[in-house]
Amino acid sequence: MLRALALVLLAAAPARSGGVLDVVTTSTDLKALVEAVGGERVAVESLAPALHEPHAVDVKPGQLARLKSAALLVRIGLDHEPWLARIRTTVNDPRFAPGGPADLDVSRGVDLLQAESPRVKSDQGVHVHGFGNPHYWLDPANARPMTQTILDGLARLSPDARAAFTRNRARFLELLDARLARWIDAMAPRHGARVVAFHDSWPYFARRFGLVIVATVEPVPGVPPSPASLAALTARMKDAGVRVLIVEPSASRSIANRVAAASGARVVTLVPSVGGDPEARDYLKLFDVNVRRLAEALAGSR
Ligand SMILES: [Zn+2]
Repeated sequence: MLRALALVLLAAAPARSGGVLDVVTTSTDLKALVEAVGGERVAVESLAPALHEPHAVDVKPGQLARLKSAALLVRIGLDHEPWLARIRTTVNDPRFAPGGPADLDVSRGVDLLQAESPRVKSDQGVHVHGFGNPHYWLDPANARPMTQTILDGLARLSPDARAAFTRNRARFLELLDARLARWIDAMAPRHGARVVAFHDSWPYFARRFGLVIVATVEPVPGVPPSPASLAALTARMKDAGVRVLIVEPSASRSIANRVAAASGARVVTLVPSVGGDPEARDYLKLFDVNVRRLAEALAGSR
């Protein structure tokens, strides 16, 4: 009873009292990691929902107001947030300019994959992975450098809280490491399994868990496949013995089903971000769900 009352009082407390930092992130994954490090010293909102088209995030006026008064904007970087340029123009605050004092690009601390891929750079503000693959949060081990960058960003604004942020991060990484060992064990029997992904979101995940991504359905990130490229893809899948097609909830179901029907692969829906499925309610649960679904799909497809 007392505990319930305390929770009610906590929920009613104003978010910005007592030196709490207002942080805005571009994704729910970053929100989860900022909360893991910041604990009760941060109030965090994500501009993008868990599931969205990569280049079509509809930011609401209330979120713009929140960004204007935020202490820090935390983002994935590379070309992952082409929609952010318009928001920066609207907010018109040099603190949030790239490299500005309230701008935190978390990609800086991460070893990127596909950074050398020759890709046509986007001239239309779309997400094409032109600077390296931006889906790096999908390797749980990347939470280590990501939370280090976040810790440094928060501590720059609240130097007195650095020790608390460091403790929070250490506690989070301890939990993460224990779970990572379990996830690796769960995936070990599937080591070397060949898969196809709809969008090229999974190279970091695949590297960590020993999967081989033979091809992607989208010939270029964000570009739907032509009938000719689909025919070539399904032929290649049959040759390579690919039995699982990884899709995300935002992928075209009709194209996925056609690829599955023509290749004999089964479709498994993985969750790209925290909150993208009711089960994936925090960063650790995101991998609990994805590892379980993929291990089951690969086991069932032999
Ligand atoms: Zn992408």
